[in-house]
Amino acid sequence: MRNDPFGFVPPSAPPSSERQADFDQFEAMELYCPKCRQAVPVRKFLLLILPDGDKYEYRCQYCGTKVGDKMDKSGQYYGVLRR
Ligand SMILES: [Zn+2]
Repeated sequence: MRNDPFGFVPPSAPPSSERQADFDQFEAMELYCPKCRQAVPVRKFLLLILPDGDKYEYRCQYCGTKVGDKMDKSGQYYGVLRR
């Protein structure tokens, strides 16, 4: 079931990873949602791909409210391109 285009699996997952480590990779985290008024599991959406990194947005899994965002500085790929 890979219907989420942004939920790609990093190919470099350690072979001896336990379940918890997998969840860590997916950043299965909880943030406070002002609408649900509680900590909720969030979904990560890719907003923008910038030369400096990717911008992600976290949204409540229940109501879809934006509860946070983040810059992911995965500059390796772009660093190679720009040299
Ligand atoms: Zn919510």
